[in-house]
Amino acid sequence: MAASTDAPHVALDYSKDRQHELEENIKGVEQDVQRAFQSITSRGSRTPPRLVAVSKLKPASDIQALYDLGYRHFGENYIQELVDKAQALPKDICWHFIGNLQSNKAKTVVSGVGEALWVIETLASEKTAGLLEKAVAARLGDNADPNAKLPLQKKLKVYIQVNTSQEDVKSGVDPLPAGSAASPDASNQELIKLATFILSSCPHLHLLGLMTIGSFSASHDPSKPNPDFELLSTTRNELFTYLISHVSPELGESIKDSLPHAAEEWELSMGMSADFEIAIKQGSAGVRVGTRIFGERPKKVKAGDNAAATK
Ligand SMILES: *Cc1c(COP(=O)(O)O)cnc(C)c1O
Repeated sequence: MAASTDAPHVALDYSKDRQHELEENIKGVEQDVQRAFQSITSRGSRTPPRLVAVSKLKPASDIQALYDLGYRHFGENYIQELVDKAQALPKDICWHFIGNLQSNKAKTVVSGVGEALWVIETLASEKTAGLLEKAVAARLGDNADPNAKLPLQKKLKVYIQVNTSQEDVKSGVDPLPAGSAASPDASNQELIKLATFILSSCPHLHLLGLMTIGSFSASHDPSKPNPDFELLSTTRNELFTYLISHVSPELGESIKDSLPHAAEEWELSMGMSADFEIAIKQGSAGVRVGTRIFGERPKKVKAGDNAAATK
């Protein structure tokens, strides 16, 4: 049985030593985030990147310790772990789901995490988008009017995951290299189809931008621009160029209201412990950092897991 949201909040004990350690770690990451952002000469009025603390496979007490210091954005990879943590921890945490989302788990994540679900970062199929749309509408109790104009804060934010490195072990839709928007088969691209579907048929979802993990390749020097991050940025621009030039009549007028004024308004979520500084320099609006804050993770061993994914 799901815990009642009215249940008194369970205190999650942590030691002062552990809190101090986590604080030092996250402050160090914040400094590096700041420094990378300040080094961008063309940053203009851009807001500094959001730091998401990736707490997967770490105890809820670690999250509570950081919460008590004022941190709110946390990222989780496994649905059941996220639902359990969300039910035990304060309701004003902003949860980021960053793991593989199978369509049959769309309803569970929406109803289990509730309004504290801040964003799904890994949307990669129309089927899952449609099920998320239905689940959010049902939670709000307004499936009656699918065209209702919802205030932005009631919508569920999503990033579309792009598999920039084209590795089989990673999920995500194919990227759009430079020139894709003008190509005759652009309308068959998964990303264009999925974005069009979200913008035109999912009034309860808000497309926040694109997300990538990037290559695991250890041979890449993390101080040099990362080709995966470059490709995510290009993909965003191609997607925008395509949609803005096909707004009407093909895609319908309604899509126009959902499009940003400029491609840059769509965020890029990219950068992890090993490469968040270069990701910021390449335009990341949100970095997802686990190991550098919480330390090494225990290995997740699960039947059916692809061994190649853990190297
Ligand atoms: C685990 C994970 C992270 C954090 O990785 P670290 O290398 O520990 O910082 C970020 N993004 C995704 C999608 C992850 O699965």
